[in-house]
Amino acid sequence: MKTPRPQAQVSRRTFLGQLSAAAALAMAPRESRALDSPPPAKKFGVALVGLGTYSTDRLAPALRDTKHCRLTGVVTGSRSKGEKWARDYGFPEDNIYGYETMERMAGNPDIDFVYVVTPNGLHAEHCIAAAKAGKHVICEKPMANTVAECDAIIAACHAAGVRLTVGYRLHYEPHHAELARLAREKVFGAFTRMKGENGFEMGTEDAHSDAWRVSKKLAGGGPLMDMGVYVIQAVCMAKVEAAPVAVTAKFGPVTRPKLFSEVEESVTWTMEYADGAQGKCLATYADAVSRFRADAERGWAQLEDPAFYYDDPVLTTSRGKVHLPNVNHQVAQLDGMAEELIAGRPSIAPGEMGRRDVAIIEAIYAAANSGQRVEVKA
Ligand code: NAD
Repeated sequence: MKTPRPQAQVSRRTFLGQLSAAAALAMAPRESRALDSPPPAKKFGVALVGLGTYSTDRLAPALRDTKHCRLTGVVTGSRSKGEKWARDYGFPEDNIYGYETMERMAGNPDIDFVYVVTPNGLHAEHCIAAAKAGKHVICEKPMANTVAECDAIIAACHAAGVRLTVGYRLHYEPHHAELARLAREKVFGAFTRMKGENGFEMGTEDAHSDAWRVSKKLAGGGPLMDMGVYVIQAVCMAKVEAAPVAVTAKFGPVTRPKLFSEVEESVTWTMEYADGAQGKCLATYADAVSRFRADAERGWAQLEDPAFYYDDPVLTTSRGKVHLPNVNHQVAQLDGMAEELIAGRPSIAPGEMGRRDVAIIEAIYAAANSGQRVEVKA
């Protein structure tokens, strides 16, 4: 069984070299402080690329509440929209960039992280531009449409000496972290049977605002890319971040052929592990469903519906309900990633993990298209 390669660690020297002198001074005492200590004088500057729904409704508001980060810039196709964001979030208009001018961020000490929140098919182009500007990169899920694009992003970040993480918010969420611990410490034994489902019902009104989500070029695929990646993540988490050895898969019925002419409406798949464990999964744009369960020899763990949405998850095990704090997922993720960088720790959601998941997705599509069992080369 393979685990994702740890992310190339950015040395403290390289990291400090990328900050302004003032910022470096502010950083210096931070290293010895506990991670729950008061916020540092300097917060990391984050620029959001793509000001759509997720940036507007979740990430930007979260950046008002983060301890270690703040919104200091945007990349947008609309200058006037950028100007409104600059006023609302209090950053200079000089920090508004277009998709074609991202390289100019290189000389801007206000921006430490670039967070790419555009359609999946544009992630590679925008992540590579951010890396070339010398900025740490956070890439939304799924990391890209293909493994080849993931490799290009990883290579660009490596060449630039910047950190690459994927916007896997649930890795920083306490209930999912507890599931990971139960798996890692084999509290109930190794999980051997997993079942996960995730989807929403895409209506005609969504089809307009979500047009890119049903475009093969921009989305890379249908609900597997968008919702299925959470189920893949949960299964891998239950298997201590190991990739499956093989998958089988089947596309579901197409009930709205006009809407789903380029991508699947739903897909079921099975992830097979070297130890005989299996994950049975569903991703769909035809039904609102979001749950996960993992069974082991001596017990089980279950994330109740909705397991993967922004709502507070409920984790139940064979021992009863698990009581954990509820957190804002985006605040927890952004501060978690900042703390990893401050401490010089490898990320728990590195680019290599994003690549692993895209490799699994490619295998699932190959299996669904061929009807054959397909080995996963993650
Ligand atoms: P959205 O359609 O609301 O926003 C997309 C943004 O990209 C818009 O600002 C749009 O103007 C911009 N864009 C730039 N070039 C474009 C082009 N050629 N075509 C279409 N739009 C273009 O989408 P969203 O829901 O904000 O999703 C964006 C990314 O964030 C996706 O990768 C998605 O998977 C991810 N996402 C993650 C989560 C999460 O919980 N982690 C939640 C929602 C979305």
